[in-house]
Amino acid sequence: MDVDVVVIGAGPAGLAATLNLARQQRTVALVDSNRPRHAATLRAHGFITRDGISPLELRTLGREEVLRYPTVTHERMLVTQIARVDDGFAVQAEQPGSRAEREIRASAVLIATGLSETLPLSQHVRPWYGTSLHSCMDCDGYDKRGQALALIGETDDLVERASVIRRHTDDLAVFTNGADAVSAAGEARLAEHGVALVRSPIAAIEGDRDGMQAIVLEDGSRSIRTGGFVRPWWHAQLDFAEPLSLQTDDDGLVLVDRSQRTSLEGVYAAGDITPGFRQLAVAAGEGTIAASVINRDLIALGL
Ligand SMILES: Cc1cc2nc3c(=O)[nH]c(=O)nc-3n(C[C@H](O)[C@H](O)[C@H](O)COP(=O)(O)OP(=O)(O)OC[C@H]3O[C@@H](n4cnc5c(N)ncnc54)[C@H](O)[C@@H]3O)c2cc1C
Repeated sequence: MDVDVVVIGAGPAGLAATLNLARQQRTVALVDSNRPRHAATLRAHGFITRDGISPLELRTLGREEVLRYPTVTHERMLVTQIARVDDGFAVQAEQPGSRAEREIRASAVLIATGLSETLPLSQHVRPWYGTSLHSCMDCDGYDKRGQALALIGETDDLVERASVIRRHTDDLAVFTNGADAVSAAGEARLAEHGVALVRSPIAAIEGDRDGMQAIVLEDGSRSIRTGGFVRPWWHAQLDFAEPLSLQTDDDGLVLVDRSQRTSLEGVYAAGDITPGFRQLAVAAGEGTIAASVINRDLIALGL
């Protein structure tokens, strides 16, 4: 084997796992394509001692920390395939944009590749995403308190999401952009909480360099909104793990037990790629659990 563990993904899940594996004197190859989902945001919230930090700075600090350990290597590469070999796994990786390829053999693999996302009304939302519009209500609701807020989405969980945002403002409107996303019962619940429901398609989102100002509907009406939330569609990109036939849920997320073990011995998963809350501290916590469990599982194998 080249290393004890290949960790795929250097977000908070993969970095926390790598740090804690290194501290067990495990050899780790940390392979990361450097395309984190949260790159759109300037400030991340809710991570103790790091509230308000830029997510990219958090990653840089984490990378610097793990690279102080001599048993850790970091490869800026995209993992394209994992296959089982006799006594472990062969992980294939390539450098995007070049022909450089590598195979790394390891006794265990941690998948910490996060998610990718598609935004509703992408061309209108994208300019405001990460500044005026956000996706994580638990992370960014506090900073929007007291404002005229929008929740834009086309899925059937908007009523529940509105109830979380409503704690921060008395002026919230849900925009479904013409999608049949809120039932009559849902509409009644929104009304009970003083939340407006706007079903008309959105034509534009207006604003200036200070931020978003209004949502313009196709019928010509204009709703003053200075910020809010969107409900993206999330995608688990796991083509590289297909040969492993891991068990996934209906959303394609990797199913794990409480120890971050997947359905295949020797393969672990942590962070956004598994079902649960999507936050930095949660991902880091799961990565930390995975590290302790991997270390113990390798000890049990005599490694
Ligand atoms: C706009 C936005 C704002 C957010 N704000 C907050 C916030 O304020 N507070 C908070 O707690 N959470 C926030 N989050 C959520 C938080 O960013 C995620 O929950 C967290 O980053 C998940 O960590 P992760 O390690 O699972 O995945 P990620 O951080 O997404 O990292 C995954 C890494 O894996 C790499 N990767 C993917 N596929 C491969 C492959 N095949 N080969 C190699 N590498 C691969 C990616 O390039 C990426 O670097 C925000 C998310 C978004 C989108």
